[in-house]
Amino acid sequence: MKRLLASIALAATLALPAYAHDDAAQKAPPSEVMTLYDIATAPNPDRIYSDIETLAGFGTRHTLSDTQSDTRGIGAARRWIKAEFETISAQCGGCLEVFYVSGFVEGETRIPERTEVVSVIAIQRGTLDPNRMVMMSGDIDSRVTDPLDGTSDSPGANDNASGMAGVLEAARVLSKYKFAGSIVYAGLSGEEQGLFGGKIVAAHALDQGWEIKGVLNNDMISNISGIDGVVNNSVVRVFSEGTRDTETPEEARARRFTGGEVDSPSRNLSRYVKYLGDQYMVNLDIMMVYRLDRFARGGHHRPFNAVGIPGIRIMETHEHYDRQHQDLRVEDGRVYGDTLDGVDKVYAAKLTGLNAITLAGMAGAPPFPENVEASGAVTASATLKWDRPSGTRAGNLMGYRVHWRATTAPEWTNSRYVGNVDEWTFENLVIDNYYFGVSAVAPDGSETPVVFPGAAGRF
Ligand SMILES: [Zn+2]
Repeated sequence: MKRLLASIALAATLALPAYAHDDAAQKAPPSEVMTLYDIATAPNPDRIYSDIETLAGFGTRHTLSDTQSDTRGIGAARRWIKAEFETISAQCGGCLEVFYVSGFVEGETRIPERTEVVSVIAIQRGTLDPNRMVMMSGDIDSRVTDPLDGTSDSPGANDNASGMAGVLEAARVLSKYKFAGSIVYAGLSGEEQGLFGGKIVAAHALDQGWEIKGVLNNDMISNISGIDGVVNNSVVRVFSEGTRDTETPEEARARRFTGGEVDSPSRNLSRYVKYLGDQYMVNLDIMMVYRLDRFARGGHHRPFNAVGIPGIRIMETHEHYDRQHQDLRVEDGRVYGDTLDGVDKVYAAKLTGLNAITLAGMAGAPPFPENVEASGAVTASATLKWDRPSGTRAGNLMGYRVHWRATTAPEWTNSRYVGNVDEWTFENLVIDNYYFGVSAVAPDGSETPVVFPGAAGRF
């Protein structure tokens, strides 16, 4: 028995880094990351409006539109976006890597002829864990009534110059800071033609081995006047898939027995957005929608989900269909078209702020808990175990926070900081009755989303 105790003590000594032995290990990290308050309100409505105006000013940004002109068409638009990222980079000592990611598409219903679909990417490299990334995306392209019409005026002010302008503004704000992980700012193309830019960039990410922990797809973030008659500038929707698209039959079978139907990484990413928004923003309520996207409609987070990358859609709450995908016209006194007068710049700035605190929170956090597993069937207490990272990338790991909630609760309700350990037992919490998860925390309080155990919740 003595020998057993001694070996346990030795194992504990080996497993824990030096400061975990101090009394400091019992000290919790700060509950607020004070810089996030500044970041939340930093996006400038006028700059966002000006960028939307510039993008709408290219006449059309249809994926099949002119690529040669410097004033009209998607070629001019993407070159302007790239130049804008380069300007932002020049102001932070070259802190952004700016480049195109493109591929050719043909033989598709909405891209019949061979067309190069070109997205613009800017990466703000992390200082400790540069390969761990969080992405904010908007779309470059626009469309009118006929999805193949590449010549008619298609300002796409809200859909989706607003999302693109939000991405540029987030880059302006966050490039003034340094983070442990990397932030990717993306202008995706080919969205209206079948999510092609997202597919191409997702494939590029896998090919490059980028560890993207979350994609924040912003699609329509400036309209506050809905087809339902509601005018509201203080609610945002966040859509997320319930079970992961890439779940194997074996993983689905395991999930059936252990749970996880509402705890995909995308879903826990949406809870993270809500948690941060509730804490750091005023006059903005986050409405999580437990659904991949709007009913039977698509968006650019989906191609990332399709290859196993967590991703969510952030957007306005009250859409107006007269101002989406419409030829500019007046019919029976009713005005159609996605023009600048439908843009609410203050609302777009708020949603950009929500994105920015999420990007900063995730990029500022330590590496995510890995290989999280739950156990404890037929015992009084549930146990979570996880793997801790080592080396440079773990340089800002302070410890872990464990979370639990009733199975019917939509959000995490309970948590506690447990120090720099790789295991925690919830005394007298029977595993059957709760969901459990764990997040990693940095010394400044920056935290990862909650990771649900097993393949169902893995980031
Ligand atoms: Zn659209």
